Amino acid sequence: MERLLQHCESHVDEIVETIEALVRLESPSTDKAAVDRCGAEIAERLRRAGADVELLRREERGDHILARIPGSGRPVLLLGHFDTVWPVGALGRMALRRDGTRLHGPGTFDMKAGIAIALGAIAALRATGTEHPPISMLWTTDEEIGSGTSREPIESIARGAAAVLVLEPALPGGALKTARKGCGEFELTVQGIAAHAGVDPGKGASAIHELAAQVARIQRFEDLDRGVSVNVGIIEGGSRPNVVAEHARAVVDVRAPTMTDARRVEAEFQRLQPVGRGTRLNIRGGFERPPLERTAAVAHLFSVARGVASLLGRDLQEGSTGGGSDGNFTGALGVPTIDGLGPVGDGAHAAHEYVDVAELPWRAALVAGLLNRLTS
Ligand SMILES: [Zn+2]
Repeated sequence: MERLLQHCESHVDEIVETIEALVRLESPSTDKAAVDRCGAEIAERLRRAGADVELLRREERGDHILARIPGSGRPVLLLGHFDTVWPVGALGRMALRRDGTRLHGPGTFDMKAGIAIALGAIAALRATGTEHPPISMLWTTDEEIGSGTSREPIESIARGAAAVLVLEPALPGGALKTARKGCGEFELTVQGIAAHAGVDPGKGASAIHELAAQVARIQRFEDLDRGVSVNVGIIEGGSRPNVVAEHARAVVDVRAPTMTDARRVEAEFQRLQPVGRGTRLNIRGGFERPPLERTAAVAHLFSVARGVASLLGRDLQEGSTGGGSDGNFTGALGVPTIDGLGPVGDGAHAAHEYVDVAELPWRAALVAGLLNRLTS
């Protein structure tokens, strides 16, 4: 462990250089050409690190990168994404710059530094001749927009893995994430009957009045004591003040800490019935990301990480978050998954996004040490 940490500390400049190179190649999820340019750079660096690299081609989105390094025992999957929420040109407004121990720039924290940490860990394992399991790495291109084209390979590769280590950002202070809420999105559309609001008020059926009643019901699905939150984030409908509204629509974000809570909310949405006469409801959606629950297997994997951290001189903490990641998919399969192994910093999806450079070597050593301990 000592040697791994020493190697990472003396090679911190290489980790920083990797982050800078990747951040300069801006990669918003919806711009395939831009994402693929960043992907080509990652693929090249992975090859140099001794990995076998395969591109999982996609038509609309950037190609996902699957890399493999042989080792002994059951494989461990390192998981993350290199798409960002920042459009091409964001670098002009929020420049890549070093301010003391902070490295600022779009996509530094979420999560190009996580990829650089993984590469730093692998370099340290190689340079010190440290034993490790077969390592699979899957770096995807559409996490920020729901992982529509990556969920399948994420799940199929995770199924063959002994554990999944997600390189998403750490919690404040460096804690790992051993629980993430599941994320649901529901759309409720109401079909009413249009009528002249002055001449024929009794003939219409207002989709807006109906939607308002339904929104009041949906609010009651919330159970903050259990960690279930409900947010009606969009409503729209109607055409003119003097027309009884024919259409209305609401979009609702729901977060739930367990699969049981998620199913309960899904069932409640399905049970919604019109309150007023003459309207019809249509409900779509569900939980795209299941919760990452802190099962006994997750707790055990965390305890292994904590043991490594203590050999590296620190007391590693754990926590939970309401935000989802691709670790939600692998956790839901029952594959032990811990998240937040990436950088310490702040400002994901915000203009002040940065990573703490001083923490990078320790994070890389933690990943390397953990890989070593997972050699079966
Ligand atoms: Zn992320």
